[in-house]
Amino acid sequence: MKNYNISIIKGDGIGPEIIDEAIKVLDAVAKVCDFTMSYKEYLMGGIAIDETGVPLPEETVVGVLDSDACLFGAIGGEKWDKLDRSLRPETGLLSFRKQVGVYANLRPAVVYNELLNASTLKPEVIKNCDIMVVRELIGGIYFGEPRGNDGQKAFNTMVYTREEVLRIGKKAFELAMSRDKKLCSVDKANVLDVSQLWREVMSELSKDYPEVELTHIYIDNALMQLVRNPKQFDVIVTGNIFGDILSDAASMVVGSIGLLASASLGDKTAVYEPIHGSAPDITGQGIANPIATIQSAAMMLRHSLGEEKAASLIEKAIKGVLKDGYRTKDISLFDAKEILNTSKMGDIIASYVKK
Ligand code: NAD
Repeated sequence: MKNYNISIIKGDGIGPEIIDEAIKVLDAVAKVCDFTMSYKEYLMGGIAIDETGVPLPEETVVGVLDSDACLFGAIGGEKWDKLDRSLRPETGLLSFRKQVGVYANLRPAVVYNELLNASTLKPEVIKNCDIMVVRELIGGIYFGEPRGNDGQKAFNTMVYTREEVLRIGKKAFELAMSRDKKLCSVDKANVLDVSQLWREVMSELSKDYPEVELTHIYIDNALMQLVRNPKQFDVIVTGNIFGDILSDAASMVVGSIGLLASASLGDKTAVYEPIHGSAPDITGQGIANPIATIQSAAMMLRHSLGEEKAASLIEKAIKGVLKDGYRTKDISLFDAKEILNTSKMGDIIASYVKK
């Protein structure tokens, strides 16, 4: 029987709560599809600072690179916010992404038609909406040097090389080829030099993908268009900071940030994680929505392990549960038959996983 070695990083806040539910569902689908999963836990973020003194222990990077794929919860929290930047949980996460080389962050924003009422937007505006945001993950202003803050002046550097833009651009064009052949590149080329290079490279690349219709849009307009008429988009490609902001906005098209999964792909490994953070405001209350993490586990089965059938069984189970009216608190505003806590939501999704 096939066995997959999965590295697990639970992290901080709701991280452990949501990862436990994803593991529950992975074990259920493994049983149905005749494979096994072995999990090995690694530390990152605040918990790593508490236990080892650093936000990213070396053995985490080694362990993840040595595994078939990594499932990750979230890191961060107020307790570690006052630490020097080099010691903060977020610095550990950025360094982790860079060291394992996951440059392409795929963030699908797919509306569950079973949940049309969970969005604050009108059902007819979002029905059948299916957007793929491709965010460059290990470059741009989050990584640019020099940077600093002396209390009087603070600065960051936004930098992209032609090679970095080409690499993420190719990924986005290939994804567009496998979907509706529409790619929208988001930048701020009217103001930023780095965006001008970004736009230039995307336009050059489009000559290699003549079937794909490429459009360019500024980030400010992109956010407006996303709320006005999200269905105009298919694949969106953008840099690190714009992708971070845009995908949080896209989560409100879908209904809750607790529903949005992501895959971070590189040449050496891949990391699967919900797009949300550690949600300190709801930690320990049992109200975190585990669906984003369970959906991330489905993406892991599909993209890293080649278990397409298992991935679609999980997706079918999530839809079945939502169709039958089960909700976590964040998506319970209008039409819940029963509001479940985090663990019960994991239980019921696992029980809906059937051949
Ligand atoms: P957040 O995503 O943690 O939370 C934003 C809001 O969404 C909160 O009200 C939260 O309760 C809600 N929310 C998030 N996930 C949810 C879920 N699964 N179910 C229901 N509601 C959910 O963002 P934030 O509050 O800006 O940041 C909190 C901490 O997380 C910070 O320390 C931040 O640096 C960190 N962070 C980590 C990651 C990551 O690990 N990838 C990403 C973003 C933020």
